[in-house]
Amino acid sequence: MSTEHRAATNQALFERAQAVIPGGVNSPVRAFRAVGGTPRFIARAQGAYMWDAEGQRYIDYIGSWGPMILGHGHPEVLGAVRKAVEEGFSYGAPTEREIELAEEILKLVPSAEQVRLVSSGTEAAMSAIRLARGATGRAKLVKFEGCYHGHADALLVKAGSGLATFGHPTSAGVPPEVVQHTLVLEYNNVAQLEEAFAEQGDEIACVMIEPIAGNMNFVRASIPFMTRLRELCTHHGALLVLDEVMTGFRVALGGAQSLYARQIPGFKPDLSVFGKVIGGGMPLAAFAGPRAIMSQLAPLGPVYQAGTLSGNPVATACGLATLKLIQRPGFFEALSQRTRELSEGLTGAARQAGVPMAGDCEGGMFGFFFGPELPQNYPAVLATDKDRFNRFFHQMLDAGVYLAPALYEAGFVSAAHTAEDIAATVGAARRALAAG
Ligand code: PMP
Repeated sequence: MSTEHRAATNQALFERAQAVIPGGVNSPVRAFRAVGGTPRFIARAQGAYMWDAEGQRYIDYIGSWGPMILGHGHPEVLGAVRKAVEEGFSYGAPTEREIELAEEILKLVPSAEQVRLVSSGTEAAMSAIRLARGATGRAKLVKFEGCYHGHADALLVKAGSGLATFGHPTSAGVPPEVVQHTLVLEYNNVAQLEEAFAEQGDEIACVMIEPIAGNMNFVRASIPFMTRLRELCTHHGALLVLDEVMTGFRVALGGAQSLYARQIPGFKPDLSVFGKVIGGGMPLAAFAGPRAIMSQLAPLGPVYQAGTLSGNPVATACGLATLKLIQRPGFFEALSQRTRELSEGLTGAARQAGVPMAGDCEGGMFGFFFGPELPQNYPAVLATDKDRFNRFFHQMLDAGVYLAPALYEAGFVSAAHTAEDIAATVGAARRALAAG
């Protein structure tokens, strides 16, 4: 541990941060409001571990909320980034590396023919909606309760009081008129979806959905629900937009859409939104689709979209190196196996302790709930045992295991997590659950 790491405690840093940064953080969930306590200020990370300002080591199951699929500081990614930095930080002009990254993404996502790079998932989702509205000439958009697509105004909405009423803003600063075209429906509710399309289907520009919702922990869109959603969108000429910011290149090489395509013949989205893994930890995101839709974007078409740092040369180097490495033979098999060991280890530990817990995972993404069965929608997620989750979170943190600090969040395993890391985590869970 360096003297630098010993100099400040997390509490002192938190107080200092709160003086100059609202809430002490640059993204709300980092403040530990949901679970209470002092956020850990991270000094460095390597492989599957992060160290905080006090030199405490944690096994990291957040991985920057998804991007760090290879673990922190992978030597080949570091090499690519260092080389790119030496060449230049940003040009505001096109580069060959952007083409290479676009080609790599499209190779792995057969539903898309063209892709536009941006800097955050928020920007990608917001731009995909503008494109869907521009391409269809319609205004309405459908989203689902419990799904998060970034903080663009039109998406900060909760369900209205009844079906087919438009939603209410979930944030101050969003005028009701801005969300008047946003309809919020219950996840996995086929009847509600059918009703909404029957009433307003021909006005709907797009339906945006997290195919596996990682923003309500881990909830899969059921096969019947996704099947019907695809049918209704096609029938009514609405675009189906899969938000794969979290699931893309994470639950499988081809994202969640490749998993649904295996079970629903001919399944594909009209537009896809990516982020996180495609930047490997750098600010990079994208939206993609068929040429006929994507060519509606400026400079070819009438839908405006732009970015000073879009396709940034350092970010694209990081993303490209990451995407190449996750295509190595056996990568996803090994990652999935490790994640399954963790998921089964946690639920097994709970069973032993007599604590109701349900868990699920896919590829390198997992979720667990303090309740007897897997929730199918947001109200069911809210009905799980929050106090038990919060206690468990702190017990695990004290034992050197960093889980997501809110029960609404998914967890992430990286290729750097070893069988020993998983065993240590499950051991800590066993002790925590036995302690009550
Ligand atoms: N969509 C999904 C599914 C996400 O999980 C997130 C962020 N967690 C976003 C969009 C927004 O991405 P960003 O934080 O990069 O703006």
